[in-house]
Amino acid sequence: MAPPVFRFAPSPNGYLHLGHAYSALLNFDCARAAGGRLLLRIEDIDATRCRPEFETAIDEDLNWLGIAWETPVRRQSEHLADYGIALEKLAALGLVYPAFESRAEIAKLVAAREADGPWPRDPDGAPIYPGAAKSLSADARARLIASGAPYALRLDMAGACRRVTGLTWNELGEGADGACGVVQARPEAWGDVILARKETPTSYHLSVVVDDALQGVSEVVRGQDLFHATSVHRLLQVLLGLPEPVYRHHALILDGERRKLSKSSRSTGLRELRAGGASPAGIRRLVGLG
Ligand code: GLU
Repeated sequence: MAPPVFRFAPSPNGYLHLGHAYSALLNFDCARAAGGRLLLRIEDIDATRCRPEFETAIDEDLNWLGIAWETPVRRQSEHLADYGIALEKLAALGLVYPAFESRAEIAKLVAAREADGPWPRDPDGAPIYPGAAKSLSADARARLIASGAPYALRLDMAGACRRVTGLTWNELGEGADGACGVVQARPEAWGDVILARKETPTSYHLSVVVDDALQGVSEVVRGQDLFHATSVHRLLQVLLGLPEPVYRHHALILDGERRKLSKSSRSTGLRELRAGGASPAGIRRLVGLG
């Protein structure tokens, strides 16, 4: 049997903190324990926030922690064509439509709808897309595109969910509410997610499923903050005919106020801890992998 394939997939939009160290070390330990492979993937599709110096720092910090990974490293910005092919497949199924509202217009639409009561939010707390772009006529769409109006490509979630029913995944970790074992996916909770934007011709959801498949990832070990996103990932995998990895969502490392760590919080940054005299073994102990 082929050895299991794990991956650590940071975004180079800041310096790594203890939460990343935990996730990376856990992937490394799981891969070693299973006689598997560990890949590193740089998720740098957001050109406005990702910077090469952060990628260099990721390399340094992971090396310092004693983590070894296979090369070449996959850098998402170098593979936009792969995501384009997946997007075309979804479009050929009639599940993709352009939506022309700006972020500010969407906020206004949500505010208007909330005059009549709360507007539904996705599992991350963001309002579900409130617009009506799905029902624009082909003519209206063509006119708007020809006029140069910027747009995002969205997934027709209702249409996608009609095609795929009984969607589940196998959770080996500590999902939300302690869910473990076979988890029922609920992609509809996300509404018509964005698959691509004009300035970024892909999205987190689309690139992550394409890459996990192209890289042969069989075990996705990542933070619980991505537990609910797995519903969208499973849906895209089925629509695109991609294999299903198993998932292990791990608990997050929280700060003193029980908040998720952020890349800007200095006290838990790996560089700061290292400068303050921490050792790799000390970091392992701090994250509970001592
Ligand atoms: N790039 C994502 C992050 O840094 C992780 C994606 C994933 O593990 O699926 O949060």
